[in-house]
Amino acid sequence: MMQNSKDSDKIADNFETNIKELRSRIDDIDQNILNLISERFVEVQKVVALKKRHNIPVFHPAREEDLISKLRKEAQTKSMDPDFIEELYRVILRNSRLHQTVEMKQQGVRQGAKVLIVGGYGQMGSYFAWFFSTSGYEVRILSENNWSEAQSLCIDIDLVLISVPINVTCETIRRISPYLSESTLLADLTSIKTAQLNEMLISHKGPVLGLHPLFGPTCPTLDKQIIAVTPGRSPKQCQWLIDQLILWGAIVVNSNAQDHDEIMDIVQGLRHFATFCFGQFLSKKRVELHRTLEFSSPIYRLEMGMVGRLFAQDSSLYAEIVFATPQRREMLKDFVISLNEQLTMLDTNDKNLFIERFNQTAKWFGPFSEQALRESTFIINKLIERF
Ligand code: NAD
Repeated sequence: MMQNSKDSDKIADNFETNIKELRSRIDDIDQNILNLISERFVEVQKVVALKKRHNIPVFHPAREEDLISKLRKEAQTKSMDPDFIEELYRVILRNSRLHQTVEMKQQGVRQGAKVLIVGGYGQMGSYFAWFFSTSGYEVRILSENNWSEAQSLCIDIDLVLISVPINVTCETIRRISPYLSESTLLADLTSIKTAQLNEMLISHKGPVLGLHPLFGPTCPTLDKQIIAVTPGRSPKQCQWLIDQLILWGAIVVNSNAQDHDEIMDIVQGLRHFATFCFGQFLSKKRVELHRTLEFSSPIYRLEMGMVGRLFAQDSSLYAEIVFATPQRREMLKDFVISLNEQLTMLDTNDKNLFIERFNQTAKWFGPFSEQALRESTFIINKLIERF
């Protein structure tokens, strides 16, 4: 009995010593990881300083993707999960980009230039006013209430940025243009572009640029945010504004105004309208939302997140987007009519037709289906981690 208890003491002693040693080794490794991340941060700061001196943007997509591919391969040679390493590095790289973006925010391509934001107290107007003023621009605001000062606000102005509700954009362009000199760059942030760009080109003789930020004013930085650019006139005189957006971290996508609007018919018009219809149907059916969420699969939760999100926002902005143009409204009518095609299928309990339509659509989605599955699985897993 005595002997047994001594043995177990010995085993316990060994366990304690071994686990202490192992834990201390892990602590050392953690310390090293921390030191290396901190060293990496110092090196990144040097890159930022260099980029700042040369006005070079923060985000270098090809370099990031090359690095991730290289690390994924190395992870495999070490029998590690490449997805885990990719996720880890995406966090490190994003953090590094955000630090760089914050540093770069102060960097103005044309510091001291004068910017007038029409509608500058609104959501997008005040968002961009903040970016411009942080980067050393002189920012002036023209709101509904100080049009009597419009002429003096336009003196020596380098950029006029229109950020008023969509339905008053064209009349606002007509109203402000007589106060602008031929060297003033006139730009707008409107979510639709054809009529607005046309109006800018007719009303103003100087440089013209259409912009459409594909994000809302709640994004804390412009890191990797897409801004559609529809060129108008005098691209050379407009380039500094594009360079500034890129320097703040945005990704610029060029398009002509008509193509932009056609793409937005789908990306914004159809997307928001279909979501609106779905949400309204749920409410009309008096679905017990909370009860359904208690039983929800992660995909339902994600879907509800997207639907609920729409109804947490400004109805008039979405009304402007959905009803933007006669073409968009026609396309949305086609969508509603197309739903009727499903009625007979349901009435006749035609599962074969459903399968046939399903397979045809899957074929149309092509390789994107695989990518969509991967990306949505990633998002769903994130959701599960959090909620
Ligand atoms: P908003 O209603 O928040 O702001 C518009 C501002 O313009 C308000 O302060 C309003 O008082 C002012 N205004 C109205 N009429 C005016 C006039 N005649 N003269 C001067 N000021 C006037 O709207 P917002 O969401 O900031 O949208 C502005 C523009 O940005 C729109 O063209 C919209 O399409 C575009 N946009 C918005 C978002 C977004 O998520 N909010 C995203 C991308 C693009």
